[in-house]
Amino acid sequence: MDDFPFIDLKAQYETYKEEIDLAIREVIESTSFIGGKKLIEFERNLANYVGVKEAVGCSSGTSALLLALMALGIKEDDEVIVPSFTFIATAEMVSLLKARPVFADINLFDYNIDINSIECLVNDKTKAIIAVSMFGQMPDLETLSKFCNDKNIALIEDGAQSFGANQNGKKSCSIAQISCTSFFPSKPLGAYGDAGAVFSDDENIANLVRTYLNHGQIERYKHKLIGFNGRLDTIQAAILNVKLKYLNKEIEKRCQIADFYNKNLKNVILPQLKEGFTSVYAQYSIRVKNRDDVIRVLDSKGIPSAIHYPLGLHLQEAFLDYNTISLPNTELLSKEILSLPMSAFLKQSHQEIVIETINNIARI
Ligand SMILES: *Cc1c(COP(=O)(O)O)cnc(C)c1O
Repeated sequence: MDDFPFIDLKAQYETYKEEIDLAIREVIESTSFIGGKKLIEFERNLANYVGVKEAVGCSSGTSALLLALMALGIKEDDEVIVPSFTFIATAEMVSLLKARPVFADINLFDYNIDINSIECLVNDKTKAIIAVSMFGQMPDLETLSKFCNDKNIALIEDGAQSFGANQNGKKSCSIAQISCTSFFPSKPLGAYGDAGAVFSDDENIANLVRTYLNHGQIERYKHKLIGFNGRLDTIQAAILNVKLKYLNKEIEKRCQIADFYNKNLKNVILPQLKEGFTSVYAQYSIRVKNRDDVIRVLDSKGIPSAIHYPLGLHLQEAFLDYNTISLPNTELLSKEILSLPMSAFLKQSHQEIVIETINNIARI
């Protein structure tokens, strides 16, 4: 078979090549590699797209999470509730600040944090909840916001996988007190290297984030706080600024492909949408009982697939202290979940081969 990419970044580049090459050249010729006009312009476009007052570009989704936690003043011995079924960065940054991630289970409908299970995890030390928008669909952030307001704890959205999704017309990264996203190359809006952003309607939070990501500096060589270098490269901002214009069109294409998968795949559990929610399908992930067999057959035909994620964070060696707790939905899902090829540039013929192959082997 011809080359079959999991996410077709090459076809995407070919499509926008002229504009992207020009944007990169302009940064190089300006020699403004850090900060400058292009970064300010990108941050303004980002804030407008999401519908928030402030968007702050930063060096990755991971540093966005770290900056959000720092801006909220999370410190040693504080507790932060996070789902176990996520990429490690969500909980890792909590631990890096010497606070304690408290792992919640997910629900088996949209694979997001199980809202009913968090009440009993809240105590006097709880300072925040990080709600992850898994595979491209937000959890019910309006309900979670009310819950957090009532308990006087902060809500952070980890929207690394959901940039462009919405809940009742409100965009991902616009509902929580502070939101984070990633522009890792394979995310729905991907840079050509590492990049991320933090969002908030609160100017004080945004100013703190800007200070922390630039060594706590308030004026040149005047350092008010201990921060780090978490800045977004201007070249990445320029590339993202071009790609942002085409994001909605790409999301539309991804949804059409997800529809085609949904209508034709048999003997698997399909991804589901809550009423009033959209997904950007950062991953199109199904559940199958005989996952090993399915992967073996896909591999033999040169069809790429991926497991997001094979092990809940509460069972990772890095979180050894938590290895005794049991989170049944996370444990079940990590055995059955399988992500299929998905991008706005996925060929019709490739979609058909995926469907035919899966339908021949998958068992519920
Ligand atoms: C990708 C991802 C991150 C980390 O983003 P990076 O840009 O790779 O640092 C964090 N959380 C989730 C849920 C992710 O999918």
